[in-house]
Amino acid sequence: MSTHSDQSAVTVLGLGPMGRALAGAFLDAGVRTTVWNRTPGRERDLVERGADGARSAHEAVAASGLTVVCVVDYDASDAVLRSDAVTAALKGRTVVNLSADTPGRARETADWAAAHGIRYLDGAIMTPTTTIGTPAAVFLHSGPEELYQQHRPVLEALGGSHTHLGEDIGRAAAYDIALLDIFWTAMAGYAHALAVARAEGVTARELTPFAQGIAGILPPLFQQSAEDIENGGFSGEGNPITSAASSMAHIVHTSEAHGIDAGVMRTAEGMVRRAIGLGHGTDGFSRIAEVLGRR
Ligand code: NDP
Repeated sequence: MSTHSDQSAVTVLGLGPMGRALAGAFLDAGVRTTVWNRTPGRERDLVERGADGARSAHEAVAASGLTVVCVVDYDASDAVLRSDAVTAALKGRTVVNLSADTPGRARETADWAAAHGIRYLDGAIMTPTTTIGTPAAVFLHSGPEELYQQHRPVLEALGGSHTHLGEDIGRAAAYDIALLDIFWTAMAGYAHALAVARAEGVTARELTPFAQGIAGILPPLFQQSAEDIENGGFSGEGNPITSAASSMAHIVHTSEAHGIDAGVMRTAEGMVRRAIGLGHGTDGFSRIAEVLGRR
């Protein structure tokens, strides 16, 4: 049995697709791994690969100095971590919470951990399960630097890049929220685009290479927008907001002519028209972020 001073042991709580990928990567890297999941049975193949299957969550956390929890959200991680037996077993040990939720929930969990003598780091995983254990995985971490450095060697067994974003425990979740905002609004736009294209007789397969071309335009635009926002420049030279409004109106009209809900694009168009109404029609699109951020 490992003790909590064993630096090469880890417990993984939560064996959904991501928790299983994490536990598998730890095992592949030779880290002694104890696993537990609320619904029994999910640990079976991991145990066949060498994991210790714990009978309870408190037995699981007692097996290692470091516990990684990866469940659906913080209601779920609270349900696991805040039972009396688990909280008691965690005293003096470290929890890294890689479940996704809000920055506020991360800060509140850190307060709870501190009140119970539990050392706490928060984190976010920015890539799919298939990347875990490979160079393509992206992990973000936040919380006490010294604690992060102490557990970094084991965390790096998960492969990919690990970035410590700072001591503010909510910072990893803040990045996660912002990055998933980009992802989900892009995916909602893509779903809408496929529906409108299909109504015009264009298949998803036909559109794909051109859709990928549009995605490829974005990285340099993100860089330019960041410069604009940091410098307060908002130059619309060559591509003013008024032009965006006109393009968006064409999309709304085409969509609605086919009876397809254009709500995603109508919302975007509304943001743009508000900026124009405030006198920013000749500015670039990055002005929208400044207008939205006004309180
Ligand atoms: P889910 O988000 O579906 O989480 C499933 C896990 O949560 C299971 O272990 C499940 O246990 C557990 N769970 C749910 N409710 C409770 C509860 N009340 N008490 C205890 N355990 C509970 O699947 P993933 O594994 O994919 O995701 C885990 C986290 O990783 C999420 O926060 C997700 O956003 C994040 N993530 C996932 C990615 C992916 O590609 N899958 C990519 C990046 C981040 P049970 O089996 O008993 O139901």
